[in-house]
Amino acid sequence: MKALAYALGRGLKDILYVETALAPALQSLAEAAAHKELRGALERHAAETVQQAKIVKDILRSVGMKAETGQSAALEGLLADCRRSAAEAEASARDAIIVVGAQTIKHYEIARYGALREWAKTLGYDEAHMLLTTILDEERAANLKLNNLAINSLNPTAI
Ligand code: FE
Repeated sequence: MKALAYALGRGLKDILYVETALAPALQSLAEAAAHKELRGALERHAAETVQQAKIVKDILRSVGMKAETGQSAALEGLLADCRRSAAEAEASARDAIIVVGAQTIKHYEIARYGALREWAKTLGYDEAHMLLTTILDEERAANLKLNNLAINSLNPTAI
């Protein structure tokens, strides 16, 4: 149990880094987007991300840990890929490229939160499990929204 508790603490701190660094990054992706609905969706996700960072801090405290920020080379790499491919894209395809970049990050968050909430459950941290499930559901909903936007609006106009 001690090993899993340590993994949970480290994982929560690392996802706190992700949410903290992602909020301004989503905002700048929103500014780079041309499609009005995409811009609005990314701005809403940026605001949601700020709230998620606050909740992760609460979760860390609820499991008896300090609300400290870890690190994520993965997020930095995913953001770098997203920015580079958006910069290289032809104008008509840029929004479609931005969307897949944002979705790739959402998938990363979904994978991390999926594990963290199960670890919290195994350790008997019921409140942490519940809050992490709420965030996981938000990440899934955000991904689905971006997916629908890509399929219905952005991909058809990227050609
Ligand atoms: Fe998030």
